[in-house]
Amino acid sequence: MNFFEELGVPLKTERGNRVFPVSDNAGDIVDSLDSELRRLGVKIIRKRVESLIIEDGICCGVTAGGREYRSGSVLVACGGKSYPNTGSTGDGYKLAESAGHTITELKPSLVPLTSDDRFCNELMGLSLRNVILKLYDGGKLIYSEMGEMLFTHFGVSGPLVLSASSHIRNMQKSRYKLVIDMKPALSPEQLDSRIQRDFSENLNRDFINGIRKLLPAKMIPVIVRLSGISPERKINSITREERRRFGSLIKEFPVSISGFRPVDEAIITSGGVSVKEINPKTMESKLCSGLFFAGEVIDVDGYTGGFNLQIAFSTAYSAALNL
Ligand SMILES: Cc1cc2nc3c(=O)[nH]c(=O)nc-3n(C[C@H](O)[C@H](O)[C@H](O)COP(=O)(O)OP(=O)(O)OC[C@H]3O[C@@H](n4cnc5c(N)ncnc54)[C@H](O)[C@@H]3O)c2cc1C
Repeated sequence: MNFFEELGVPLKTERGNRVFPVSDNAGDIVDSLDSELRRLGVKIIRKRVESLIIEDGICCGVTAGGREYRSGSVLVACGGKSYPNTGSTGDGYKLAESAGHTITELKPSLVPLTSDDRFCNELMGLSLRNVILKLYDGGKLIYSEMGEMLFTHFGVSGPLVLSASSHIRNMQKSRYKLVIDMKPALSPEQLDSRIQRDFSENLNRDFINGIRKLLPAKMIPVIVRLSGISPERKINSITREERRRFGSLIKEFPVSISGFRPVDEAIITSGGVSVKEINPKTMESKLCSGLFFAGEVIDVDGYTGGFNLQIAFSTAYSAALNL
């Protein structure tokens, strides 16, 4: 934070300790780094590196655009393979492999999830705030958090879903299930009283018309269908058992997961150059001297909240001290 503020980018800290430029403009960060490189007289060559030059086990340059660029050391900081239109197409893994490095399994992480549940498409565009999202592996709860999520044409996305995705180790259809608590501030008993209150004000109305105050409009036809109670049923004919089942659906709305969206849509790539083959103090390769790694190309990834940028900054800083 000091570094960026000294470069003239004032910062602010928002909910959850998330740090942003006061301007809310990511371009200010890029511009500040760019002008600092220029101030330090760093020569920038905008070309795509094709290969490493390795002689006698020492990395001493790269080739790009059919030309050789010789140097005392080389830092591979090519990012992962997610969001390739930001430039990170996975080249770093190939460069590392050419120097004998092991690349651990590459997987999308912090990625939207697909679902075969027909209602996701119907709910497309519906954003839920202040809900609790739980992720189950079989019957075991492996993630639970309060926040925001979004339904899309393919399934679910949004901050809670991206975080949940990083807990999925072995994606198999129907193995993982999401459960949404749409009324986390109310206990099941409090929710039941609330539903009873709404019902008592609408005793002679159809079920579908008597719950409008309870849930977002888009959700109502879907949850009515899932409840098994006919939308035209008069509220005064709904049994206590049916009302309780309806309440449970609001507290435990299930979404089955069929897979990850492609790596192109993942915020980060999990996996990469094996950390066992990198000196953690200097970021230098243990297999090839003069070769260094930093950032997402390494098999390290973190949660949402700035940890991935921090990994990139910290590993680059250590590498830079030792290049
Ligand atoms: C939409 C989105 C939102 C994100 N939000 C956050 C967030 O809020 N907080 C957070 O911590 N992280 C976030 N991340 C993740 C974070 O941006 C990355 O983890 C981080 O930028 C990785 O830094 P890096 O320098 O290793 O790689 P990158 O930032 O990917 O940079 C790699 C660079 O290498 C260049 N390159 C690739 N191949 C070659 C080659 N052969 N020759 C020359 N150059 C090459 C690329 O053009 C690119 O400029 C987000 C990512 C995405 C996609």
